[in-house]
Amino acid sequence: MKALVLYDSKNAKVEEIQTPQVTDQTVKIKVKYAGICGTDLHEYSHKTFVTANQMVLGHEFSGEVVEVGAGVGSVTVGSRVAVEPIWGCGECSSCQSGNYNTCVNMKSYGLHENGGFAKYVVVDQSKVFELPDELSYDLAALVEPTAVVVHAIRRSAFKFGDRVAVFGAGPIGLLLSESLRAAGASQVIVVEVSEKRRELAKEMGADVVIDPTKEDAVKRIKELTGKGVDVAYDAAGVEATFNSSLDSVKPNGDFMIVSVFSEPISYNPAMQLISEKTISTSLGYNHIFGEVIDLLAKGSIKAEKVITSKIALDDIVEGGFEKLIVDKSESKILVDPSL
Ligand SMILES: [Zn+2]
Ligand SMILES: [Zn+2]
Repeated sequence: MKALVLYDSKNAKVEEIQTPQVTDQTVKIKVKYAGICGTDLHEYSHKTFVTANQMVLGHEFSGEVVEVGAGVGSVTVGSRVAVEPIWGCGECSSCQSGNYNTCVNMKSYGLHENGGFAKYVVVDQSKVFELPDELSYDLAALVEPTAVVVHAIRRSAFKFGDRVAVFGAGPIGLLLSESLRAAGASQVIVVEVSEKRRELAKEMGADVVIDPTKEDAVKRIKELTGKGVDVAYDAAGVEATFNSSLDSVKPNGDFMIVSVFSEPISYNPAMQLISEKTISTSLGYNHIFGEVIDLLAKGSIKAEKVITSKIALDDIVEGGFEKLIVDKSESKILVDPSL
């Protein structure tokens, strides 16, 4: 079968590999759509989390079950499904308390075992979630990033009616904007440098969009809100967005870090101390895929606008990874292995 194999930094190829076979507890899925995520770009550019010599990337995917192992009871052939890609060791205190997303030995399809940038993928039956008829395969490929966002909102101090700011309007920032709107935010302010992404943010729940290259985002947020937002979310992950996010929060408010920072940053804790702001963090999700599938199926979160292109697996390196690195007008690119 055809798959995208990562060998090394900037060395990934679409090539024929052996089609995976089911084992007792696993399920074979024909991939319908697989989304390209910032983590895939990071692995393509730097190969950090992937330690194997060859790995099929892709952890955001939907598909149809085409074969099940002899010991599989909960999933049947023909089912339309989304896959939760992460799992923990099952033994440590994080796993024992249900927080397998913070397990030090957390693993994921597409990083530690072959993932969804392929015609077929084999996964454990416990990671498979059946889709309701209303949820299309393309939206189902967004269950994973939407789960990241829902988990982050639930972990933050956000309450119904709060004013919020989102820094960065890539796929996670856009889904945050729309989910916060759905969760009852009274004002959603999005800060983003790309014009196309600001336009998308407007269509996806933002009341106000700010271009930080043209105006002082923190000053504007304070003008709009009086004393700052109740909660700010950093979905960009650089020093400038970290400091601006923290600064835009009202006294005793909450700053939630959603993005992965690729470099250390410098900040002054005094800014936080004098107003008792909290800095919170959120990584992945746990036990939430069923709820997120319902939110998307019911249209509570209308995520389709985040999908800006659908491409063939053959085009993934040039038309996917390389394009997303330079072209900030793109948001979520879905790979369709049938093309
Ligand atoms: Zn991802
Ligand atoms: Zn564990």
